[in-house]
Amino acid sequence: MKILVVNCGSSSLKYQLIDSETEEWIAKGLCERIGIDGRITYQPAGGDKETEEIPMPDHTNAIKLVLEKLTNEKTGVLKSLDEIGAVGHRIVHGGEKFASSVVINDEVIKAIEECNDLAPLHNPANLIGIDACKKLMPNTPMVAVFDTAFHQTMPPKAYLYGLPHAYYEKYKIRRYGFHGTSHSYVSHRCAELLGKKYEDLKIIVCHLGNGASVSAIKNGKCVDTSMGLTPLEGLIMGTRSGELDPAILEFIANKENLDFAGVMNILNKKSGVYGMSGDLSSDFRDLEDAMNNGNELAKQAVEAFCYRTAKYIGSYVAAMNGVDAICFTAGIGENAAVVRTMVCEYLGFLGITINEENNHKRGEEIDISTPDSKVRVMVIPTNEELAIARETVALLK
Ligand code: ADP
Repeated sequence: MKILVVNCGSSSLKYQLIDSETEEWIAKGLCERIGIDGRITYQPAGGDKETEEIPMPDHTNAIKLVLEKLTNEKTGVLKSLDEIGAVGHRIVHGGEKFASSVVINDEVIKAIEECNDLAPLHNPANLIGIDACKKLMPNTPMVAVFDTAFHQTMPPKAYLYGLPHAYYEKYKIRRYGFHGTSHSYVSHRCAELLGKKYEDLKIIVCHLGNGASVSAIKNGKCVDTSMGLTPLEGLIMGTRSGELDPAILEFIANKENLDFAGVMNILNKKSGVYGMSGDLSSDFRDLEDAMNNGNELAKQAVEAFCYRTAKYIGSYVAAMNGVDAICFTAGIGENAAVVRTMVCEYLGFLGITINEENNHKRGEEIDISTPDSKVRVMVIPTNEELAIARETVALLK
């Protein structure tokens, strides 16, 4: 079956057409600047990537353009839209309502809408994507795959904050966690690569991209994760602060004369390694270059990023009373060897030793620990689109 995977943001839309039998992508691309002007990139497997500036007033329009690209006479990969067996949608927040993926119907759409409060930037955009596909492919089944679902197995001691219980009851304020599709995909892959049963392992996954999170998976269940009610908690990220003393919010507001929205904007967009490096860059390639050229702030930012990551790993080893494997994934986790080295330097107490030659290989699933290392350390490229396609097929069977 051919599955169209759609990941809708407020002004962008990532798409991938996947053959569920071969698990290979057939075509993929990105719509950007939706509602502003519009740009679409499209790449068929084995073909050249093309980019076109084209007006995209809304998401329905963007999906329409994607479908036109896929069925284009010259560069398209489909003869007709009927070849698309199903659409899998990435949905950011499923609250406590969704502990697994679901086939989309009116009731599900209503339940996703009810989670809008928890992800006001993301969920409405995801819903627009669902609506656009419904309009253009009314008879094609659709599945919702939630970023939060994988973490719903956390126990109350991990998901409750030190706040009055009434806030949990009234507003559902708790830790939800994100990147769940990636944490699930990578941890399952880790078990496969180790040739062990998923249920027998203690795994820590470090999803280090622009957004970054760590999760602890014990005996096949997620027991803790670093992102919280929102994707702002936890690790230091590209532009997000991660955890900090909550009193800092009021302090900044008073000193800089900012309201809540202003402070949140600083914490989400101007902080992280970007802010720490003196607004140099949120991209680790730039930070590494700067660090190698003696830039002290860049060095401090990268060191703080690695230190925080290592501290989370340490705390999750305690949470699980041990660890069998630590996995690195996403843009930084897959590519930045120096980050992996710096993080693992803190983990010698676990008997971890790294094979630096393997650590410097790129783009493959690889065990970067030495044979005598007490814990396996793996680099496993994530594939959220494939995971969404698999979930979609599994639900429609
Ligand atoms: P997201 O999906 O959250 O936008 P990604 O997982 O794609 O993020 O990660 C993007 C980040 O990965 C970049 O901002 C950059 O910091 C990092 N990155 C990508 N390629 C490299 C590389 N070759 N070396 C170091 N860091 C890299």
